[in-house]
Amino acid sequence: MKSAKDKTTVILRRLKKRYPEELRTRLHYGNPWELLVATMLSAQSQDAQVNKVTPALFRKYPNINDYLGEKPTDLYPYVRTLGLYRNKSKNIIKAARYINDNFNSKVPRHMEQLVQIPGVGRKTANVVQGNAFGIMEGIAIDTHCITVANRLFLFNTNNAEKIENKMMEFVPKREWINVTHLLIALGRDVCTARRKYCKNCVLNDICPSSTVNK
Ligand code: SF4
Repeated sequence: MKSAKDKTTVILRRLKKRYPEELRTRLHYGNPWELLVATMLSAQSQDAQVNKVTPALFRKYPNINDYLGEKPTDLYPYVRTLGLYRNKSKNIIKAARYINDNFNSKVPRHMEQLVQIPGVGRKTANVVQGNAFGIMEGIAIDTHCITVANRLFLFNTNNAEKIENKMMEFVPKREWINVTHLLIALGRDVCTARRKYCKNCVLNDICPSSTVNK
């Protein structure tokens, strides 16, 4: 295969065929604020677990302004099944207040504004931009992406921002949302941090880390 770009075209084609249901976030949400909350809650928690708690949370707090007068402990009953729920509750309330104070209670669309919000890093900002607004300023890189991208492209770094910058050089912009979801799907399915199931991987003939004899 000639270049990283050519290889990426093949990778994306095969992963889309293998994981067609993964071409958007699995988190359930009705508006950009709910997606921001769900994404904040999903750090180190499974999306399915987050989707179990958000319906009651969003029913109790239908608007961003409903969080403004709350204390983090008020959110605990809704999110306590998730890891780091104390910290997440604190950040959600801080985020609501920040967005209220600075953006008139509307989730901003731009990366430099999103990453100013308490508890929001580039990964969360990318998820919100891509899925809620269809804007692609970057590629969201989570721990699955780090594992899989290192095996597929031999980046040899665990720095998410470095991986994002390298991938933005050769992944076509129109695929920046898809590539995140597809690498996560591969990372959850056969290319897990603990073990590689290369025999069952649709990329085992082109991946430099494959354990399958080519
Ligand atoms: S071939 Fe193996 S190492 Fe490469 S992406 Fe697939 S599971 Fe991961």
